[in-house]
Amino acid sequence: MKEETIYICETCGKRMKNQYDMKLHEAAHFDNTPEQYHKRMELQNEVGQAAIAYSSAVKRLADFEKDNINFTEDDDE
Ligand SMILES: [Zn+2]
Repeated sequence: MKEETIYICETCGKRMKNQYDMKLHEAAHFDNTPEQYHKRMELQNEVGQAAIAYSSAVKRLADFEKDNINFTEDDDE
């Protein structure tokens, strides 16, 4: 059995078998060279990874606070 990979443009949905041709095609939507497009994808991925790390850290902080801090009612006011 042979498998075939199809690349789909995230902007217009066009389908292609060749990954490099698809990169050229997607880059053209943004008036970018393939190198600019590749760099942009790389940076977007970096931002995505940072966002995942951030939300994981926020959750760990919230869990820590839930387990380790006892909030008391303040009756002074
Ligand atoms: Zn397209």
